[in-house]
Amino acid sequence: MSAIAPTGPRAAGVHWDLSSIVADAPSARSLLDETVLAAEDFAERYRGQVPSMDGEALNRALAELADISNAIGRVGSYVGLRRSVDVNDDEARDLEAVVEQGGVRIGNALRFFELEWIALDDDVAARLLETPQVERDRHYLRSLRRYRPHTLAEPEERMLAERAPSAVSAWQNLFEQTVANVQAPFDDGSGERSHTVDELLAYVHDPRRELRIGALQTLYGALEPLTPVLAHCYDSLVSDRLVIDRLRGYEGPMDARHLDNELDPAAVEAMMTAIERRYGLAQRWFTRKAELLGLPKLHVADQYAPLDQGRTVPYEESRRTVEDAFRDFSPRIADVSGAFFVERRIDAEPRPGKRGGAFCASVAQDAEPFIMLNYTDRLRDVMTMAHELGHGMHFALAADRQTALSSHAPLALCEVPSTFAELIVFDRLLETEADARSRAALVRGELESSFATVFRQTMMARYEQDAYALRAGNQTLTPDRLSDLWITRNRQYYGDSVELPEGYRLGWSYIPHFINTRFYTYAYAFAHLASLVLFAEYRERGAAFVDPYMEFLSTGGAASPAEQLGVFGVDLTDPATWDRGLDEMERMLEIALAD
Ligand SMILES: [Zn+2]
Repeated sequence: MSAIAPTGPRAAGVHWDLSSIVADAPSARSLLDETVLAAEDFAERYRGQVPSMDGEALNRALAELADISNAIGRVGSYVGLRRSVDVNDDEARDLEAVVEQGGVRIGNALRFFELEWIALDDDVAARLLETPQVERDRHYLRSLRRYRPHTLAEPEERMLAERAPSAVSAWQNLFEQTVANVQAPFDDGSGERSHTVDELLAYVHDPRRELRIGALQTLYGALEPLTPVLAHCYDSLVSDRLVIDRLRGYEGPMDARHLDNELDPAAVEAMMTAIERRYGLAQRWFTRKAELLGLPKLHVADQYAPLDQGRTVPYEESRRTVEDAFRDFSPRIADVSGAFFVERRIDAEPRPGKRGGAFCASVAQDAEPFIMLNYTDRLRDVMTMAHELGHGMHFALAADRQTALSSHAPLALCEVPSTFAELIVFDRLLETEADARSRAALVRGELESSFATVFRQTMMARYEQDAYALRAGNQTLTPDRLSDLWITRNRQYYGDSVELPEGYRLGWSYIPHFINTRFYTYAYAFAHLASLVLFAEYRERGAAFVDPYMEFLSTGGAASPAEQLGVFGVDLTDPATWDRGLDEMERMLEIALAD
C-alpha cells in the first residue's frame, strides 16, 4: 500500500482519475457506437429464438448481454461521473445526450429477450433453469419470471404502454412542474429573495431558530393554494394504479412494490408493526433535544437543528480511521477500501460546479467502482466516507464473483453494506474518540439519521396505505382528506414530544416518492434496520460472523433478500428479528441521553 499523500483542508486536490473506465470522451463515444451495433446484431440473431434455446445457447446469449451491459455501464458512468464534478463540462454534456439516445436504441433492441423469456411455459423455463450452463444467472432468470402471473397478453401490454404518457406521466409532470415553480419570497437576514421548495427546506439545518420556523411557515403558505392541483395529481395516479392492479391481478396496492423488492408482504408488515411499536424511542430523543436547545418543546422545524458537531477531522485522518476499523473487521475489506484511495477512485474536494452530497457508482461488473464525496472536515464526513466505501466493497466483491447480470443486489439490500460499514466505524470511534463532545455528536448524528430512515419512512408508507384504502373505498383524495391522513400518522409518530404547526398538515403535498414510486420509502427502513440486526449479530458472534458477511457481500444479485439474510439466521417474518435492530437504536438512544 502506498504512503498517504498529504492533503490540505477539505480534501484539497483529491480528484479522481476516470481513465480506467474509458480513456476519454471520443473513446466513450466509439464504445457506445459499437455497443448499439452489438445490441442490434444481438436482436437480429436471437429474436424469436428464446423458446427453442437449450442451456448452452441461453448461456451464450446471456454472456453477450453481460458484455453489452458492461459497455453501457462504462460509458454511462463515465459521462455521469464527469458531470457530477463539473456541471459546466460541455464535452460531457454533449456526450450525455448521445449516451441517452444510444441507451434508448439499446433498450429497444434488447427488450424482446426478457419478454420471450417471461412468456415461456413454466415447465420449459424450469428445465432450462436446471441446466448447469445457466447456473451463475439462475436467480436473475428466475426473478424475471416473478412478473409472469401479472403480465397481460401482448396487445393489452402494448395498449398500457402507449397510454402511459397521458395517463401516468402527464400527472407526474404536472406535479413536478407545480412544485418546481414555487417561488416564495423569504428573508434569511440578507434581504428578501425568492426561494424554491428545496431552498426553504434546507433551513431546517440552520442554527437560527427564527429562520427554521419562518422558512417552514413560508413553505406551507406557498403550497396552500397549490394543494387542489397537487391532490388531484395524486388522486388521479392512485385511482389509475388501483385499476391497473386489478387488471394485473394484484391483491393490494403494495404487492407490485413487494414483488420489485423481492420481499414477502408478511415480512414487510412484521417490520412496520415492530417499528411503530417503538416510536417512543424517537419521542424520548425529541424531548431531550428540546432540553439541549433550551426549549420547552421541540417544534417540527427544530428536528434537524444543528447541535455541537464535535471536532474537525482532516481527510487523511478520516481515511486512517475508516481503514483501521475495516481492517479490524476483515483485512480483505480494508484492502478493497484502500484501493479506492491508491487508484484515485475518489473525488472528495468540494468545489464550485460540483454537485452536493455523496454517492458510490458501481460503474460496471468488469470495471472498478468510484466514489464522490464533498469532504468538509466534519466528524459527520467520516461516517459518509465509511458509508460510500461500504457500497464500494459490496460492488467490488459482487463484481468479482458474479456476472454483469447478477452482480446488482436487490434494492432492499443495497443500503445494507453501506449502513453496516458506518456502524463498524461508528463503533470503533465510540471506543477510541477521546473528545467527549465529539463522541456525543457522533451518537446524535447516527441516532437522528436512524430515526429519519427507520421511523419517518415507515410513517410515510403507512400514510400511503391510508390514502389507497380511502381511494379504494371510492373517496376522492381531496387536500383536506390527505391532510387529515397525514397529520394522524404524524401525530402517532411524534406523539406529544413535537409541536406540529397548523401548516404542517400540508406536509404530504410536495413529496415526490408518493407520486413517482409508490411505497418506495419502506425499503430505506428495511435496509437500515436489517444492518442494525446484522450488527447485533456481529457483536454477539464476533469473528465467526465475518466469513458469512464476506460471502454476503460477494452474493450481489444472485439470491433474494430473504435467502441472503437467512444465512445469518435472520427470519424476516419474525417480529423478534426487527426488535433486535430496534434494540440497537435504543442502545444508541441511552448513550445519547446519558451525555
Ligand atoms: Zn447509500
